[in-house]
Amino acid sequence: MDTARHALVIGAGLAGAAVTAALCRRGWRVALLDAAPGPAMAASALPVGVLSPHLTRQPTPMSRLTALGVPVTRAELERLVPPGAGWMPVEVDNRGAHAPGRQAAALVRPGALVRAWLAEADERLQAHWSASVATLGREQGQWLARNAAGEPLARAPHAVIAAALGARHLAPEAAGPWPLGPVLGQMSLAALDGAPLAERPQRDDGVFVPEYRDSGLAPQWPSAIWAMGSTYARGQTDTALNDAAHRDNAARLRDLVPAAADRLDGLLADGRLLGWAGVRCASMDRLPLVGAAPDPLSSAVRQRAVAAVPRLPGLWLLSALGSRGLSLAAACGQWLAAEMEGETPALDADLRAAIDPARFAWRRARRGP
Ligand SMILES: Cc1cc2nc3c(=O)[nH]c(=O)nc-3n(C[C@H](O)[C@H](O)[C@H](O)COP(=O)(O)OP(=O)(O)OC[C@H]3O[C@@H](n4cnc5c(N)ncnc54)[C@H](O)[C@@H]3O)c2cc1C
Repeated sequence: MDTARHALVIGAGLAGAAVTAALCRRGWRVALLDAAPGPAMAASALPVGVLSPHLTRQPTPMSRLTALGVPVTRAELERLVPPGAGWMPVEVDNRGAHAPGRQAAALVRPGALVRAWLAEADERLQAHWSASVATLGREQGQWLARNAAGEPLARAPHAVIAAALGARHLAPEAAGPWPLGPVLGQMSLAALDGAPLAERPQRDDGVFVPEYRDSGLAPQWPSAIWAMGSTYARGQTDTALNDAAHRDNAARLRDLVPAAADRLDGLLADGRLLGWAGVRCASMDRLPLVGAAPDPLSSAVRQRAVAAVPRLPGLWLLSALGSRGLSLAAACGQWLAAEMEGETPALDADLRAAIDPARFAWRRARRGP
């Protein structure tokens, strides 16, 4: 047995499942740990999201990353998830001033893809549910995850922190905490009874999904829904549904499809409106963290390039997918798996530097004390 190709992955949302799938496909063994009792129970429990590139007038790192990432996710969906049981192809009308026009997209329930990835990993994967990692330390060449009682949960030569905001406590960062913050979002949704109120999804400040059908939606949801989402409350983490957020969604929906806003208001007044809220994890520069974790002891040294910052052996990050987990996770998981095997990921050097987890420590060191 190849003991070096063994990783523990913390977090079983889109990020952790994506890297698990990519590693297992390369023949690695993975111990996957999550504090929740099953996969995709935090932000990745989103009932429906939009898979589409981030369009901007001029290319930006995010527009380039999502342009690379969307086809990778789409290919994974086509390979692993039957249409109608976790995703459906659509076109979206972009109504914003940035990039108006119609765009090919897909509506996706992230949990369907997460489960499909874990099922594919099969016997290479050992899943540990209700396993909250309190500390991650290195002992005798292995990363060891322990619970709050100090009991060992899993150990392996490599560890991937894919725990969204949980990364703040698990990975040591040079000269300060990881620059990650929460962004609470609430989606309003309801059963689709009758004809959809638009021909296709409409996007400006938020997205109106007039129709989403999914035979695998959890029992608390109808199998055909419409939805408007989502609010964007930086710094907040309370996922209890609230009417103010529904009204915020209704106000933005009024600019897109007034009849749908009337429907939303009516259902809210009748107490029949459904909703879902989750917490996104965003970095300070809004870009994901993908790659080797910097060594906190040596990264205070000024380096010419971020790539030169010394790293902790075998510790990796895949976090801060923000509002773009569907567009980014699959590709980021594949890039990270390549890097873990000592390959150069198929990604331009400037983009690699843009998502390097060491960039914050590197910038701080260059600014000086
Ligand atoms: C309202 C809303 C709407 C969205 N809409 C879209 C959309 O339309 N399109 C799109 O692409 N994206 C969308 N997103 C974003 C997308 O849902 C996220 O980017 C994605 O799900 C993040 O995946 P993740 O695996 O990084 O995090 P999560 O799914 O949050 O998973 C992190 C996991 O880590 C575990 N964990 C944390 N700490 C520990 C620990 N110490 N020990 C063990 N386990 C731990 C947690 O239990 C959790 O399961 C939306 C998000 C929200 C909230």
